[in-house]
Amino acid sequence: MGGFELDDFKRMMEALSSCVILHDAESKAILWANPAACAMLGFTLEELLPLKAPDMSSSAKPYERETGLRWLHGAVLNGMNVIEWCYRAKNGEEILSEAIATLVHLARRDVVMVQFRNIEREERVKREMKRLESRLKEFMQDSDEGLAVLRPDGGIEYLSDAGRKLLGLAPDQPLPPFTDLCDPASRRELRDLLKLALPDALSFPFSYTIEPPGGARRWHQASCRHIEIENDLKGHLLHFRDITQQVEAEHARRHQQEALEYLARYNAMGEMATAIAHELSQPLAAIRNYLEGAVLRLQAPDPSPETIAWGLRNAGRQVDHAAAIIKSVREYVVKLDQAEALVDLNEILAEIRYFIEVKAEEAGVPVELEPCDGPLMVSCERVLIGQVILNLAFNAIEAMQHRPGDGRGIRIGSARQDGKAVLAVRDHGAGIDAALHERLFDGFFTSKVSGNGIGLALCKNIVARHRGDIWAQPAPEGGAVFCFSLPLQ
Ligand code: ADP
Repeated sequence: MGGFELDDFKRMMEALSSCVILHDAESKAILWANPAACAMLGFTLEELLPLKAPDMSSSAKPYERETGLRWLHGAVLNGMNVIEWCYRAKNGEEILSEAIATLVHLARRDVVMVQFRNIEREERVKREMKRLESRLKEFMQDSDEGLAVLRPDGGIEYLSDAGRKLLGLAPDQPLPPFTDLCDPASRRELRDLLKLALPDALSFPFSYTIEPPGGARRWHQASCRHIEIENDLKGHLLHFRDITQQVEAEHARRHQQEALEYLARYNAMGEMATAIAHELSQPLAAIRNYLEGAVLRLQAPDPSPETIAWGLRNAGRQVDHAAAIIKSVREYVVKLDQAEALVDLNEILAEIRYFIEVKAEEAGVPVELEPCDGPLMVSCERVLIGQVILNLAFNAIEAMQHRPGDGRGIRIGSARQDGKAVLAVRDHGAGIDAALHERLFDGFFTSKVSGNGIGLALCKNIVARHRGDIWAQPAPEGGAVFCFSLPLQ
């Protein structure tokens, strides 16, 4: 027999480190056990031979003698039969085993050879894993963050339950490529990202929009990291969550901001229109006078061409003057659409001085302008900041409506303070109503019958967008001071 003696096989069986017990195929009585099996169970071979199942098995219900016999008999019928069997060693220790019973036809009789191994540790590890798994599942259940592992082609290797929900996929729906769910721009970006060989442990932020079939577009924010788990997942791990609400709120905020700024510009136009009407009325009246003078001279008995020409030339000059006003309006309107630029705050004050004076003159309020020396360079949209100053000035003028004439007066000054440009409008009005002070800039109230100007809430909004502050305080000599500051460039 291939160079082996029959005895060699016995020696090999005896040297085997896995446990073997031989049963008679018919009576199921133990015929023999190898030393490994004897060592494991703590019996000598002589002690083992007469033992029946209850003498060497756990007394728990699944390990009853009948079950054991049925198992061994199953091997007789089918050639092989596997069971989880709990043996009991001589010292009482229970050994949970995987036991494989195999029918072997020996020369003189049929036997069932049982090989068994201790799986206690394996079972413990398995139970531990199961517990960990169900814990993780439980924790991830309520997470609003989805997990996906993506292949380089954009296919989904793994997707968590929360991820499925975020992507709008039904629990049993087959997984489409992740990239198919993205909108075209995000798809291109994601494909590029997946092609990148990201270094270990470095994660990249990534935002994209998905368009679930039949659903509304959603915005997601994700971090992407390349992972390679031994014998398991490999690919780009994506942690993602839905930020649609934040994005929509931001859109709404931006929309509102645009509407407010439109209002401020619209208001600036109104201001300008009033000023133009005021300015144009002078040259128009002069033109009319010169023309009427020329007509009268033409009708005289001895019309003098010289004086008529003089009147017409003067009328012509006034037309040029009116044209110059209209030209400056055009330039102003172009400025209305200007974006942020580096501007001197004192220059803005000089630009709007005229509008303040027209209003102040109507109200009989003297205006003092006190710009500081040198330019106050700030980064701003000049029209919007101009509107803020106008509003503070108009409010100051209105605050003095009920004051006797000689006590009136507003002072508008600018200054340099701690790296900031500060503009202050001081009046001698009734001062700030203490009950309203906190809510002045909230935009929820006006103490006037018909509010004028763009309002303090919009002023605050504009100043905040320019990274500045706005506040009000009582003036030392009565009245109020309204100030705002912008970072100096
Ligand atoms: P409006 O002027 O249209 O009422 P504002 O937002 O500009 O709206 O002002 C809100 C309120 O703040 C005013 O109604 C007034 O009660 C108060 N206020 C503003 N400026 C002054 C000021 N210089 N002195 C006293 N109260 C003021």
